[in-house]
Order: sequence, then structure tokens, then C-alpha cells
Amino acid sequence: MTEALPLFLNGKPEPSAASDFLELRAPATGEAYARVPLCEADEVDRAVQVAQAAFPAWRDTPVTERARVLFRYRQMLEAEADSLARLIVHDHGKVLSDARGEVQRGIEVVEFACGMPTLMQGQTVEDVARGIDCKSIRQPLGVCVGITPFNFPAMVPMWMYPVAIAAGNTFVLKPSERVPQTALRLAELFKEAGLPDGVFNILHGDRRTVDALIEHPQTRAVSFVGSEPVARAVYRKAGELGKRVQALSGAKNHLVVMPDCDMDKTIDGIMGAGYGSAGERCMAVSVIVAVGDVAEPLVQRIKSAADALKVGEGTQPGSEMGPLITTAHKQRVTGYIDKGQAQGASLVLDGRAHPATSGPGNFVGPTLFDHVKPEMSIYTDEIFGPVLSVVRVESLQEAIALVNRNAYGNGTAIFTNDGAAARTFQNEVTVGMVGVNVSVPVPLAFFPFAGWKGSFFGDLHVHGRDGVAFYTETKVVTSRWFDGGAGSGRNMTIRLG
Ligand code: NAD
Repeated sequence: MTEALPLFLNGKPEPSAASDFLELRAPATGEAYARVPLCEADEVDRAVQVAQAAFPAWRDTPVTERARVLFRYRQMLEAEADSLARLIVHDHGKVLSDARGEVQRGIEVVEFACGMPTLMQGQTVEDVARGIDCKSIRQPLGVCVGITPFNFPAMVPMWMYPVAIAAGNTFVLKPSERVPQTALRLAELFKEAGLPDGVFNILHGDRRTVDALIEHPQTRAVSFVGSEPVARAVYRKAGELGKRVQALSGAKNHLVVMPDCDMDKTIDGIMGAGYGSAGERCMAVSVIVAVGDVAEPLVQRIKSAADALKVGEGTQPGSEMGPLITTAHKQRVTGYIDKGQAQGASLVLDGRAHPATSGPGNFVGPTLFDHVKPEMSIYTDEIFGPVLSVVRVESLQEAIALVNRNAYGNGTAIFTNDGAAARTFQNEVTVGMVGVNVSVPVPLAFFPFAGWKGSFFGDLHVHGRDGVAFYTETKVVTSRWFDGGAGSGRNMTIRLG
């Protein structure tokens, strides 16, 4: 039997008392490597209590000292970046260069959080009335929880906890039960960087664990990233209980190609955005919108570039695309390819027939459909696999209307050499993250990750100033000091002074 993974509570790994476990298998080989406990309410309660107990001392630790722990953490993450990336390749299946990129993106959030002494600053106005000053201060909330998806074992948790913790909160993370090991290593490193025990804790589990975390009376804020139905449910539940909540959800990202694009650069962009991480990214492009007469040459160029992509285990030299996370997910993705064919789209490249599918692991090759219509399920649903759909339209306005009708609004991009077309696109499109000749426009940590429509439920996004606002609450202090001078006397009105 494989080893059971521990929880990380109060600064150390701890065996779980759970009765249910999930067996984990490496996506590239199918080999079982560990069992993850599925924690229930009693362990959730313990984790939240541990985080609550650590809160007063951490909140009272000067923000400069908190930031110094983050600076040390950043150094340790840099030193461990390669081993973290290899762990991600093993557990998730993405290729090594992509896993390195993910770790780097996470480190950038830690760098951002190092600036917390500046980021937490409030505002002051002197003499709002005679002799009366007013100031706003930002204070941490208490216990914040994070619930994260499988597709970024390091980066998505790091969107949350470095900012929350630097702001003076304590944190309980429930990483995806399908990739829980990386988070454990991230927690150990934070402890080694000098983080006091109990400030950052890790629990494992599934729906029951998440429900208990949200319902716990001491949980103050819930950060969720995952699929649309779950994001919606988490947002509703946390909101009903009066918790602060941000729920990042699914996506169906469109990349618009204009006839005047730089074709070579466009193809490079499409390969990375459509097939990178086997399409298992919330910012993956899954719809190519071909405008006017670019469609014919574009489809041929995508086909030949996709056909040449090297599919294989993520640490193999030259590997450009790895396997899908589980056999069940592979079946779901190939099921969509079946449906696309049945619904009448033209299958230009069939990933079900790729040579990599004949060996072990959950491989599906790059897949391309042309002449896709908006009513087909390969267009409407988030497939989360290496399946690209080309929709042909006549004009930029038609392309924008298509993007805007879509229920999701995470990311989109336009490839063009026409500045006016790009400007119209960025101005009119109802999507939160827009790329102009950039196919995966993921914002750096000092901007918010800003999905719109069905891709986000909440008001404040993760990281950037939104993240700081999410993990702090504003207190406004109005003060007056008596110096023996004449005051305005008794005041029976709402006016100050
Ligand atoms: P998922 O929704 O299955 O799981 C996400 C988390 O929710 C996991 O921790 C899981 O344990 C928990 N969970 C699952 N079912 C639950 C339920 N019924 N109630 C409460 N909690 C539950 O998502 P996934 O398959 O791990 O990740 C892929 C999804 O995440 C895709 O839809 C992708 O678009 C989305 N995603 C979005 C973003 C973004 O920024 N918008 C980023 C990454 C991933």
C-alpha cells in the first residue's frame, strides 16, 4: 500500500485520522505513489482552531517583521524552484519548462507580498472638521481559507496565502486532492523561513472538507479557484454565511486572428495557449476565431504545427505537452472529441489517434476542429484538454460579438498588426484579461487576476491591490484632542465639530 500523506498543522507534518483516502497516480505512468486523506469536520475544526490560536501574535507582529519572513521565503523558493518544478511535473504531468514558469509566477506573488508595509497603508485627512482628524487603517481579518484546483499545484495556492499572511492573517489551505504534495513542501519551506507555527496550515480532502471549512464559525474569508459549478456553489454558501468570498471559476477563452496578423508569431502563440499544459489552464485558449480570409491558411498552419508538437513525459528533453491529470479526465476529453465529430464539426487533427495514447499514462494528442458552430458542445463547454475549435467569422465586430455572448470572461486575445482594431477589441470586449499579440495574458502579481462574467464570482480578485483589500478590512478612526481651547460644545446633530 502507498504512503498516506500528512496534514501540515501547527508548523509540522501530522498524520491524518481520516477514514477515507484517495489513491494518487502519476499522470504520465499511471503508477500509484501516495494516498491522500479526505479530512472530515473534526480535523477541519482542529486546523481552524490552530490558525485562530496563532492569529493574535501574528497580527501583532510588526508588518516589517512579517515582510522579512516573506523575503527569506522568497530566497528559499528560488533555491528550491527546480525541485518544486519536478514535483509538479510528477504529480500534475505538465512539462518541466512550464512547471518552472508556474513556480516563478508563484514567487512573484511572494515578491509582491514583501511590499506589504506599503500596500497596507491607509489614508489620513487632517481637519475634516475643526480640530478633528480622520484616518483609515487596514487590519487583517483572522483565519482565511484557500481551496485550490489541480492544474497549478504551486501557483494558485500562492495567489492567496502569501498576501493573506503578509497582511497579518493566518491561513488554512486545502489544495486539490489530486495534487496535494507540492503544497506540503511549500508549507515546510515557509516554516524554515521563520514563519511561526500555526500561521500556515494544510488540510486535505474533498467536498466534505470544503463545506466544513466554509461553515466553520471562525473562518473569516474564503478564496476559491476551480470549476464553474463548484465556484458558484462556494460563492453562494460562503456569502449566505456572511463570509468574505472570492471564487475564480471556469473559462472558455477565445483568440481572435485578423487577416493582417504576423502568422508565424500567431501560430507560436496558439501552440502555447491551446496545447501548453495539455489545455489544462484556466487561461488556455480553446476557441480560435478566424476573421475573413485568414481561416484557410490559419487552419493549415495550426494543423502542421500541432502535429509536430512533442508529446511525452514532462522531464523528457524537448517535451512540449504532457498527459492529462487522470484517466477519467482523459475519457471526458476524448468524449468531447467524439461529440464534436457527431455534431458535425470538421476534425482536422485527432488526438485520440496520437502515438502517445498507446503507451501508459493519460495522453491525448493535440486536436483541432474547424467549422465549429456556437451551439456545439465543444464550443459551449470547458473541455480542459488539448482540443482547439476554429470558428469562422467575417468581421472584427462579429468576432467581438461572439466573444461577448460567451458565458465566460476570463481571458481573450487578438493577433493583428492594426492598432485601431486592437484598440476597438480591448475597449469593447467583455472579458477581464485581454492580450494584444499576447496569447496567455496572465497579469503579473501586482495587477489583479481579473476574470469577468461566469469566470469569477465576487468583488475583489486575487493578488494586486484587490488581493490586499480582500485580506484586510478597513477601519476608519475619527479623533479629536482637547487642548483647553474653546470647543464647539455639545453637538446633538450628525455633523462633526
Ligand atoms: P474542481 O472544481 O473540481 O476542484 C477545485 C477545488 O474544489 C478542489 O480543491 C476540490 O477538492 C474542491 N471541490 C470539488 N468539488 C467540490 C464540491 N462539490 N464542493 C466543494 N468543493 C469541491 O476543479 P479542478 O478540476 O481541480 O480544476 C479545474 C477547474 O479550475 C477548471 O474549471 C479551471 O478553469 C478552473 N480554474 C480556474 C482558474 C481561474 O483563475 N479562474 C484558475 C485555475 C483553474
